[in-house]
Amino acid sequence: MQSYGNYSNPEDMIADIVAEARLTETYTGRRKFGEKVMSAMARVPRHEFVPENMKQCAYINSPLAIGYGQTISQPYIVALMTDLLEIENREARVLEIGTGCGYQTAILAEIAREVFSIEVIGELAERAATLLNKLGYNNVTVKTGDGYFGWPEHAPYDGIIVTAAATKIPPALLGQLKPDGRLVIPVGARYASQDLLVVRKGKDGTAKKKKILPVAFVPFRHDPEEPFN
Ligand code: SAH
Repeated sequence: MQSYGNYSNPEDMIADIVAEARLTETYTGRRKFGEKVMSAMARVPRHEFVPENMKQCAYINSPLAIGYGQTISQPYIVALMTDLLEIENREARVLEIGTGCGYQTAILAEIAREVFSIEVIGELAERAATLLNKLGYNNVTVKTGDGYFGWPEHAPYDGIIVTAAATKIPPALLGQLKPDGRLVIPVGARYASQDLLVVRKGKDGTAKKKKILPVAFVPFRHDPEEPFN
């Protein structure tokens, strides 16, 4: 692999994710993440997704600012959320809310058959779409919009991942999930820490929620006229 200076390199990032997975086992119930998840983490060039002045830190296991007040998530969290979706052994169709710089999108695209991703900030959506296309991810479709409503045209999904902190679960998302599908979402009060939740939709359509870990995400932006319920 290429070297990215003294500050960070992909091998160290993988080692840090492996170590953090062990440390958080009591929360997550998983001592390590699936092989496909970890090989996607090793393959996707994170330095391509961060701003020029952060390239040297690209492989540090921490979130980084990507402009517009938004962040690229911590690599361990990206790996955990992808693992929690449990799409490894499926020809999965996945919906992501909160494309940001497109890093998580690329990880999903390495594992899933198709990825649909929605970003509310138009400039970020366009930039991510251009970069993902340049890197050869042709199974990804990005659009600008409010992910609160999901993306009904491509539903149902095997997995839905939300990478911004919602105060409640947007109801449309559960409706767009396949039976036996999973929704991974941070839920909590604004500007406080949130609980990372996995909501599993049973074959009979009922949803079961499980709290995984306290996390800190940027807020989910949503028109207050259309309240979460
Ligand atoms: N997965 C991204 C994380 C980006 S931060 C990455 O690794 O880079 C969360 C993103 O969610 C931000 O870009 C923010 O603009 C976006 N977001 C917030 N509310 C949203 C909404 N209602 N619909 C779609 N995207 C939203």
